[in-house]
Amino acid sequence: MPKFWDEYHIPATLDDALGLLARYDGRARVIGGGTDLLLDLKEEHYSGARPHYAALIDVTRIAGANEIREDADAGWIVIGCAVTHAQVVASSLVQARATALHEASGVVAGAQIRNMGTVVGNVAHALPAADSAVALAVLGAEVQVRSKQSTVNSEQWRPIASLYLGPGKSAVDSTREIISAIRFRPTGANEGSAFARIMRPQGIALPILGMAARVKLAIRNSQFAIDDVAISAGPVAPTLFRAARTEEFLRGKVLDDATLEQAARVLLSEAQPRTSAHRATREYRVELLPTMLREVMTRAVKRAK
Ligand SMILES: Cc1cc2nc3c(=O)[nH]c(=O)nc-3n(C[C@H](O)[C@H](O)[C@H](O)COP(=O)(O)OP(=O)(O)OC[C@H]3O[C@@H](n4cnc5c(N)ncnc54)[C@H](O)[C@@H]3O)c2cc1C
Repeated sequence: MPKFWDEYHIPATLDDALGLLARYDGRARVIGGGTDLLLDLKEEHYSGARPHYAALIDVTRIAGANEIREDADAGWIVIGCAVTHAQVVASSLVQARATALHEASGVVAGAQIRNMGTVVGNVAHALPAADSAVALAVLGAEVQVRSKQSTVNSEQWRPIASLYLGPGKSAVDSTREIISAIRFRPTGANEGSAFARIMRPQGIALPILGMAARVKLAIRNSQFAIDDVAISAGPVAPTLFRAARTEEFLRGKVLDDATLEQAARVLLSEAQPRTSAHRATREYRVELLPTMLREVMTRAVKRAK
């Protein structure tokens, strides 16, 4: 077996982790659960590259990083960088106030990967079809990016979409920066969210198509109408995708069959699914988009009521 790294560090504080990254000056890499990174290293090796790091910096034992907490005053739920999919599934707070994320984490891989893989790792890997990322996109998520230059620590909250530069290409440099947390807006009164995905029957890897919706309802003319809505899907673009035109079309409308049919046409005009060798054809994904829109919108509206 080739050796992909020399040292393995398990810092107990974020400051120590940042100090290590600064010390290795681009020659070390952050590792969470390792469920993506270790496979990537092997794949790079077999494709002829010679991946090698002076050190891996494991961020899963940093004090406080395995917590899911509500910052009620500021209106966020905050997830630390060591929080696994299994923890999200077990969280009654996420289930009640961010149901789309709860549902997304529940379908990631099998139990072993859910016990190891982190939500932050899912986002840092920058795949447009990653389940947690698709759900977080409709929850208005932001990521906290930390780094240390010379002796100065820098800290910045960035919108989740700004991290995505292309399939698997993140704006966060995991050899110099750490995503220490993700925060998002929980649903409140008259709001609901939902996530759905289609997989190959034997599949425990990325989906054929995933979709999430968050809706806020208001009473208009004695009927529930869509006051606000967010819709995301993946993979239908090289980066994390929000269906801005479909959202705009749906605002102010009552969700009935005719509205859903028209909304699906708008969605098809802005989503650009492609054929992928191991998962599905473009044509199949196009067929699925209207069905999945109906599914997530109907469930999110039901929850909002
Ligand atoms: C069998 C199998 C099935 C899978 N099924 C699914 C699935 O159904 N749905 C799905 O979405 N994904 C799936 N995955 C992918 C993977 O499990 C998830 O994306 C997981 O959440 C990755 O998290 P991790 O902590 O293991 O990341 P790691 O592998 O540790 O890291 C992934 C990348 O992010 C970087 N990174 C990690 N943490 C940080 C941080 N805090 N700051 C900066 N950079 C960081 C690493 O350097 C690396 O580049 C599957 C993987 C396997 C092996």
